[in-house]
Amino acid sequence: KGKKADLAVPEIERSSRDSKKLAKLTAHEELLAVRKKLPVYAYREEFLEAVQDNQVLIVVGETGSGKTTQLPQYLHEVGYSKVGCIGCTQPRRVAAMSVAARVSKELDVVLGREVGYSIRFEDCTSQDTVIKYMTDGMLLREFLGEPDLQSYSVMMIDEAHERTLHTDVLFGLIKDIARFREDIKIVISSATMNAEAFSTYFDDAAIFNIPGRTYDVEILYTKAPEADYLDAAVVSVLQTHVSQPPGDILVFLTGQEEIEAAVENLLERTKALGARIKELLICPIYASLPSEQQAKIFEPTPKDARKVVIGTNIAETSLTIDGICYVIDTGFCKQKTYNPRSGIESLIVTPISQAQAAQRAGRAGRTQPGTCFRLYTKWSFAHELEENTIPEIQRTNMNSVVLMLKSLGIHDLLHFDFMDPPPAEMLIRALEQLYALGALNDRGELTKLGRRMAEFPCDPQLSKAIILGDKYGCVSECIIVGAMLNAGNAVYYRPKDRAVHADNARMNFARGGGGDHGALLRVYKQWADADMSTQWCFENYIQAKSMVRARDVRDQFAGLCERVELELSEASDVEALSKAICGGYFYNAAKLASSGEYKTVKQMKTVYVHPSSVMAHEEVMPKWVCYHELAFTSKEYMRNVLPIEPDWLCEIAPHYYQTSELKDSRKQKMPKGVGLAAGRGQNLPS
Ligand code: ADP
Ligand code: MG
Repeated sequence: KGKKADLAVPEIERSSRDSKKLAKLTAHEELLAVRKKLPVYAYREEFLEAVQDNQVLIVVGETGSGKTTQLPQYLHEVGYSKVGCIGCTQPRRVAAMSVAARVSKELDVVLGREVGYSIRFEDCTSQDTVIKYMTDGMLLREFLGEPDLQSYSVMMIDEAHERTLHTDVLFGLIKDIARFREDIKIVISSATMNAEAFSTYFDDAAIFNIPGRTYDVEILYTKAPEADYLDAAVVSVLQTHVSQPPGDILVFLTGQEEIEAAVENLLERTKALGARIKELLICPIYASLPSEQQAKIFEPTPKDARKVVIGTNIAETSLTIDGICYVIDTGFCKQKTYNPRSGIESLIVTPISQAQAAQRAGRAGRTQPGTCFRLYTKWSFAHELEENTIPEIQRTNMNSVVLMLKSLGIHDLLHFDFMDPPPAEMLIRALEQLYALGALNDRGELTKLGRRMAEFPCDPQLSKAIILGDKYGCVSECIIVGAMLNAGNAVYYRPKDRAVHADNARMNFARGGGGDHGALLRVYKQWADADMSTQWCFENYIQAKSMVRARDVRDQFAGLCERVELELSEASDVEALSKAICGGYFYNAAKLASSGEYKTVKQMKTVYVHPSSVMAHEEVMPKWVCYHELAFTSKEYMRNVLPIEPDWLCEIAPHYYQTSELKDSRKQKMPKGVGLAAGRGQNLPS
């Protein structure tokens, strides 16, 4: 790491004395005064001593006590940043960005210099960065380049209670590093949940408690179950607004679409009520919200108005919003679930756990007594909610993590020191899929192809497709489509009052074949031809922000291609692209059944084309398709659908599909050695 900036230690004592003298404080001095009021401030010296005395320290404190923003600063103030960077992981990208922005303000430095953040596809750090917030996934990637984390003097694994897949894998790696790097300090910090379990896992590490100041939160349940929690939430907001004393409201919903619907609904209803009610400021918060708008939730509420923040579980513990007195908890969140038998992963609206419900309620009592309205019954809370959320590692697809661990030279995954090991079935499934992709050989060892695939910060399927792009001469198209797919479902703009026009515009992009992937490619190319203009987006019902983001991601991919020496070849026809994509996603192949539905080739599961797909409007449905992902709402829907030829499956994945299978869909067995990392054999075709 380069030269460290010599930051002046904030002199909190002096500035507070000044604050009494000066009538008007500078913004920075005001922030220093605010910092002193945080619960963690009283424990600053004790915390620093505990870090000095313990290599691994578990820190537990209420949400909002100042763990994330203050602890790295304290460590910096006493000089840990002189020997290395102070890292702090966050499970969510929004939190990493927002906290880094906050801390750079508190330190009065430019974001991206001394204080920075690193999230997938965006590195906002510099040579001078001494406090670095990053997603847990990014730290995992850093291990690939720096397996001993040599450039860090302290690593803080924050929000440990969230138990994301990446955090859990980090635990294992960090625990190992701590053994041979005596100089590194590890802080594991968590909201007030299962600290004992963390301590036990880290060889009985010391626990440091930050006693929080919390106020009573009155909890109210509905008498009967709500049929429509979204509508119930909106009604509760309005009722609270008109009937309750001042104080802001925080509503928990499950995702962007719901949040947008609620915001729209609230806007309509408050407009109808006009001047009869006080002003209600409506602030959405979810992962893909642009950062200018994210910042809005932190702005102080003007007098005579009330703020309502409508968010996902991002507001549970990752972000602390001051001034919340009322929490409206719908009792649901979106959760990944993975069925290793079918290999199908979907994002499903799921009831939260009791522990999550407690966290949500706690958000109402940070600065004064508050109220939490649970839009479910007391009975349901006691009988239908699990006590704790199941760690993600036990319910998710492990493909990319397994590929990464293999790249780190960790061969025996079944005996890796996981805090809660994933079911062996999940691991074996991931090993099988990586074998099918050619990333592992039949002894379960990383192949050359696998090593290249691991360089890309995306699913192994996509990295395989990009690398195959080289074979079919369409790397350039592959990375565009990969970047566009990364923009999620926010490429096309479809306002309700102009839905027909929007649909026509979308269908124009579909012309030329290649299904949704082909359409996404044409959207990008035409936008690029139009000098990436916003006006073009407007005219073609495309979301300009998503395009800008797709361009950034594409550029990153292009940089990575250079690193692994993939030429950015370009093909003239869409078939090359289709073959490359199919080569990565052959796992997701489906065949049209006589009933007019699609059935997945391997599991014979019935799936449908998502209504948002350009393929949903085809008159003649292709016999064979492969899809990008499945979304489960009322049915299993394929999102982003690509027509393919069955011959490609034999050509691209001969070790996975047999010619006969592409007629009768019989299951083919994997060689035994793959799952068990034993046996002998030859390298697979790759
Ligand atoms: P913890 O990690 O213990 O939950 P934090 O360090 O995140 O606590 O928060 C401490 C204080 O900093 C809170 O009062 C919170 O409101 C404030 N804060 C954190 N992030 C921001 C931000 N982006 N903008 C404004 N205030 C913030
Ligand atoms: Mg925090």
